[in-house]
Amino acid sequence: MAIHERSLVEPERIVRKERLVIDGVDVSGDWNLIILPRVINDYDLDFAKEIINSPDGKTITLCYQCSYCTASCPVHNYWDERYNPRHFIYLARLGLIDELQKRADVMWRCVSCHKCTHRCPKGVLVEEVLKVILRTMAKKGLIDEYPSKKFDKFFTESVLEYGRIEDGELLFGWIEKQGYNVVKDPILKKPIPFLGETPEWLKQLVMKPIKSMNISFLVLNAKHMLFHPRTKSWNKFKQVLRKVMQEEGALT
Ligand code: SF4
Ligand code: SF4
Repeated sequence: MAIHERSLVEPERIVRKERLVIDGVDVSGDWNLIILPRVINDYDLDFAKEIINSPDGKTITLCYQCSYCTASCPVHNYWDERYNPRHFIYLARLGLIDELQKRADVMWRCVSCHKCTHRCPKGVLVEEVLKVILRTMAKKGLIDEYPSKKFDKFFTESVLEYGRIEDGELLFGWIEKQGYNVVKDPILKKPIPFLGETPEWLKQLVMKPIKSMNISFLVLNAKHMLFHPRTKSWNKFKQVLRKVMQEEGALT
């Protein structure tokens, strides 16, 4: 028997004998592979209900498990085949939380390319649904936070603060969180880029494009890094946005 998603089956449940003859018929080779059955009785259907009742999770009910999403997913195809959107949806709908937990180390790896959503023939908002599954698990303490999630939070806070992406502060603030010593300005207490410890990979990443930038653009960027410009009237909008995000559970 061929197994198309072999990574989903625990190795101890896959049995293959050197030679197998049944009723006088030699079924050795590819047909000589047996997946032992399993019994699952600890499922939580309330988990699926919680996802269906959340604004971004409703479309999970439309999924008919065709696997177009998984076939399109770059994380599944080029990084780790254990990252499988179709399978995560399947497990969530059945309330098989312990099975989801076994894949907790890969579940954060979505790069939000939306290929899955674009190709889904049933209109499932796959990326959103997967995020709801993760958020629900995190809220219940069923899954640990991963670095990408911590970065998401840091990124969101930065956008909420300025109404824009403040590259220098985002990058060097994150570096500080990783344990590097950064120098901060005495008034706003924000990191001053490149004045403290800077990892070698970051120096190389930044220096390459800097060499090809014109001087006025460099001066403008340096000014932004030091004075942290904000979007006009952002303070009022920020409060509304923060409140909505809190109500929807997007800020934890
Ligand atoms: S492509 Fe859509 S319908 Fe098919 S498995 Fe993925 S989510 Fe389900
Ligand atoms: S949005 Fe995430 S799950 Fe969907 S195809 Fe891209 S990486 Fe895969």
